[in-house]
Amino acid sequence: MSYLVLARKWRPTNFSEVVGQDHAVSALKNSISSKNIHHAYLFTGTRGIGKTSIARILAKALNCSDLIDNSEPCNACGSCISINEGAAIDFIEIDAASRRGIEDTKNLLETISYLPSSSKYKIYLIDEVHMLTPESFNALLKNLEEPPPHVIFMFATTEYKKILPTIISRCLQVNLSSVSIKTISDQLGEIFSKEEIKYDENSIGLIAEAAQGSIRDALSISEKVISFCNRNLKEKEVRDILGIPEPEIITNLLKSILDEDITKILSILENYGEYEDHEFLLKSLMDLIQDVAISQFEKKSSKNNLNDFLKTDPTKLQFLYQLGLSNLKHFSLGYDSFSILKMTLLKMVAFSPESQKKNSLKNKKQDNLEIQWPRIFTDLNLNGISKNLLRQASITKHKDKLKLSFPKNILSIINEDQKIDIEKSFEDYLKTDLVFFYDDDVDPKLTPEFEEKNKDKGLRRNIKKNMEKDKNFNEIIGGLKVESVKFNKNK
Ligand SMILES: [Zn+2]
Repeated sequence: MSYLVLARKWRPTNFSEVVGQDHAVSALKNSISSKNIHHAYLFTGTRGIGKTSIARILAKALNCSDLIDNSEPCNACGSCISINEGAAIDFIEIDAASRRGIEDTKNLLETISYLPSSSKYKIYLIDEVHMLTPESFNALLKNLEEPPPHVIFMFATTEYKKILPTIISRCLQVNLSSVSIKTISDQLGEIFSKEEIKYDENSIGLIAEAAQGSIRDALSISEKVISFCNRNLKEKEVRDILGIPEPEIITNLLKSILDEDITKILSILENYGEYEDHEFLLKSLMDLIQDVAISQFEKKSSKNNLNDFLKTDPTKLQFLYQLGLSNLKHFSLGYDSFSILKMTLLKMVAFSPESQKKNSLKNKKQDNLEIQWPRIFTDLNLNGISKNLLRQASITKHKDKLKLSFPKNILSIINEDQKIDIEKSFEDYLKTDLVFFYDDDVDPKLTPEFEEKNKDKGLRRNIKKNMEKDKNFNEIIGGLKVESVKFNKNK
């Protein structure tokens, strides 16, 4: 028996097998049974939810010589079989990600005038159509304006916003939605039973959750899990494979944050591990906070683990959620994810509205946490001019007093509006009232400007050093002095 990956083996072959896209499917079936055929269809939606699968089914239905119930492809006639086997002459599939240039498009469009060889329609399916170059789009547009009656275009895209409005207006748009966790779980259960794979309900739920609305992802994750678990899926193992933390870790974490118990938070993190998915842990914590907030609103909790939290101050929950949200973006910047997580959780304690109130004793300790000038510079919310002024300042803080030191020439031109803007940005960032002082006693090595320049220098120095070490590079430049070679991103 030949081996087929799950996602391919369980790809739907007719409309009734499509999962989680009921609206789109019934609209398409209606258009076929009522013979209301469009000459261009645009399938939109995120990845892995069935855009090209549905387009293929539609193509089969349009060319099928033996439709079932006037709308379902028979999967038995010559046309259906050739499409299923990927051998249909009148169904042309193109991936615009790899063939996006004008020459490719021209070659393709030249074939349009020829009649279909054996079917009713000649059908072109262009996947990732947003990748086409503007010239290709224009060439396509001409054909969309007056398509020959035997031609049907199908476009699929994950990036609807990148498609020209003139193209969109000539297509019937079929918008596919992300598939719910419940629907994915049900589908997985059905497939696993047919594949004789053992599982417990929770393990399926974990896979469905990790798939984030994509059936294809759910199946490829399943593939991995099935082979690791030796065809017997248990919650604990699936959790380990997918790196999904135990629910107790998250509830303990939230409890420790609310108790402001930093030692406990750090110990939970140490046990959780340096190499786990830290972004996922923060997201799970935010999910829990959200669940608590909703339960408070509904005045009851759906899950047992929420009961302990229902009396939490709602403002505090909003604050924690907001802080988590604003720190999520840091994970994509390539810094050490464990540090980002740690700092985010520490901020949740240090800057919480309560600890702001009772912080007079802790002030000294918090000073270190609160302001790491010039590192916090980029986090301040400032307009362009104020930002440029502040870029040249060094800053010292003592309790609620903040001293801003500028070079003399800058200090003399700062106006009141700019001062207000700067002061507000610090108060917003530190979430507390401050008293501000200005002088010209700047330490040039402690300004954002200095840090920016030197970061850049350090990077260039490193790249140059590596280039000098690289033998191939020295051969290519044939003994030229490295100093004369400009920093080249591609090398
Ligand atoms: Zn057929």
